[in-house]
Amino acid sequence: LPIGPATSGAATARAALDAHFPQGLGSFVDGRVVAGRGEAVRLTSAATSQWVADYADAGTEGADAVLASAVRGAEVWAATDPFERAAILREVSRTVSEHVEELATLESATTGKPIRDTRGEAAKVAEMFGYYAGWADKLLGHTIPVPGNWHTYTERVPWGVVVAITPWNAPLFTGGWNSAAPLAAGNAVVVKPSEFTPASTVRLAQLAHQAGLPDGVFNVATGLGSTVGATLTSDKRVGKVSFIGSVGTGRRVAVAAAAAGIPTVLELGGKSANLVFADADLDRAADGAVSAIFSGAGQSCVAGSRLLVERSVHAEFVARVAERAARLRVGDPLDPDTEVGPIITESQFATVTSLVEAGIAGGARRATAVNLPTQVTNSALAEGRWVLPTVLDGVSPANVLETTEVFGPVVGVDSFFTEAEAIERANATTFGLAGAVWTQDVERAHHVARSVKAGTFWINSYKTIHVAVPFGGFGDSGHGRSSGPGVLDEYTQTKAVWTPTRAAGSPFPSLSY
Ligand code: NAD
Repeated sequence: LPIGPATSGAATARAALDAHFPQGLGSFVDGRVVAGRGEAVRLTSAATSQWVADYADAGTEGADAVLASAVRGAEVWAATDPFERAAILREVSRTVSEHVEELATLESATTGKPIRDTRGEAAKVAEMFGYYAGWADKLLGHTIPVPGNWHTYTERVPWGVVVAITPWNAPLFTGGWNSAAPLAAGNAVVVKPSEFTPASTVRLAQLAHQAGLPDGVFNVATGLGSTVGATLTSDKRVGKVSFIGSVGTGRRVAVAAAAAGIPTVLELGGKSANLVFADADLDRAADGAVSAIFSGAGQSCVAGSRLLVERSVHAEFVARVAERAARLRVGDPLDPDTEVGPIITESQFATVTSLVEAGIAGGARRATAVNLPTQVTNSALAEGRWVLPTVLDGVSPANVLETTEVFGPVVGVDSFFTEAEAIERANATTFGLAGAVWTQDVERAHHVARSVKAGTFWINSYKTIHVAVPFGGFGDSGHGRSSGPGVLDEYTQTKAVWTPTRAAGSPFPSLSY
C-alpha cells in the first residue's frame, strides 16, 4: 500500500490512517486483510484534496474468494447455537464501543464528516450490535392450527450469505446497520463499502472478528461497484442483497440480482420536505431546519432539502435559517468544533456546485454568503472540496433544486398558503424517504404526518432515528426496512413443517396443493 505524504498543519486523513489502520487497506476475508487483485483505486482527502492512499480493487477473482469464504462462514454460523450467537454479538457491541474514538477518527479522515458526528455514528454501531444480539436467541416460529390431525409449525431459516452494498456518506453506520441484523438471524455477511471509503468497514469487520465472530462470517470486499459490486450482486451463492445508495445504482443492482433470483432490500435517495407552519416554535424549527440539511454537509439520505414555509412567516423564517447557517463552523473534519465538513469526492463537488448554478439560473435566490471562512482559506484545507451552507429561496416546483437530490449543504426554500397546499407540495416527488412538520397544532401535525408519503416522518423534530424503529423508503426511495425488529423477517426465510398426529386417515386430505 503506497502511502501519501501528510500535509502540514491540520491532522490529516493520512495521519489517521497511520494511527488507526497501520496494516493498510484491502478486503477482509477469513479474519485477515488480503491484498486486492484488480485495478488501483486512489483515495484523496476531502479536506485537502491530497492523495491519501492507493489500494487495489479486489477484482472479480477477489470477490469470488470472499464469497467462497462467506459460504463456509454461513454454514458454521447457522449451526452455532443462537445463545452463543447472541453472546458473540454482545461482545462485538462491547468491542465496538471500546473503539468509538478510533472508528470515528478513521471515518472522519476518509469521508470528511465532522468527528462530532462520526463519534455518534460509531456509538450507534455498537448499539446496533447490542440491539440485534438481543434478538438472536428470540427468533420464534409459530405452531399453526389446521383442519385435521396435523402438527404444523414454522421455523426461521437464515438466507445463508447476505451481501450488503453501502454508500460513502456513512460507511460505518450503514455497514453496521446492514450487518448486525443479518448476523443475528444466522447469516454470514459480505459488506462492499464504497470504493471511496472502505477503511472503517474493514476495521469494523476486524473488531467483530476479534470479538469472536468465526472466520468468513463477516467479510468485507473492497473495490469498485462495476467490478466487485456487480460480481457480488449476481452470484447464485448469495441469498439476499441489501443495497444502500443512489436510485440509479439501486435499480441496476435490483435488476442484476433479480436475474440471478436474488431478492433485494433497497435503501435509496430522498428529497425530503420539511414543512414549517406559522404557529410553530420558530426558533426550534429554524434549529431543526439547519440540522436537517447541513449536518453531514447535506450528504445524508434523509436531508431536509426542501424547506416549505407558511407564507406569513416565510421571510422571517428564511432570515433565521440563513443567520444560523452563516454561524455554522465549517472546517477540518477532525477538529471537534467543526459542524460542517467538505464534500466527499471531486465529482460530487462538481455535481453540487453545478446544481446550485442551475437552481439559480432557474430563479432561486441566494440567502447566504459565498465566501469561505479564513480557517479554511488560510490553511492546509484551502484546496479541499468545500461548499458553504447554502440557502436558496424562491425555489419553484419546476426548479431542479426541487426535483433532484443534491446531496450537499444546499436547501431550497419556498412558501405555501394552506395545509392542503403544503401536503400536495411535499408529495410532489417520486421519492418517499422522510419528511417533517413543525406546528403546535396537534391535529394538524398528525393529519400532515398521515398525509405525506414517506417511510419516516417527524413532528417538531428532524433526523432522529434509532435501531429499534423501522427505517426505509416509499416509492423511488426503496423498499424493505433497515432497522426495527421487522428486519429479522428480511433476513430469514420461513420454513413450514407438517407432520400427521395420527396414522389413521389420509395423510393427503384437501390441504394438498
Ligand atoms: P452509489 O449508488 O453511487 O453507490 C453505492 C454503492 O453501490 C457503492 O458501494 C458503489 O460502489 C456500489 N455500486 C456501484 N455500482 C454498482 C453495481 N453495478 N453493482 C453493485 N454495486 C454497485 O451511491 P453513493 O453515491 O455512494 O451514495 C449516495 C447515495 O446513497 C444518495 O443517493 C443517498 O441518498 C443514498 N443513501 C441512501 C440511504 C438510505 O438509507 N436510504 C442512506 C445513505 C445514502
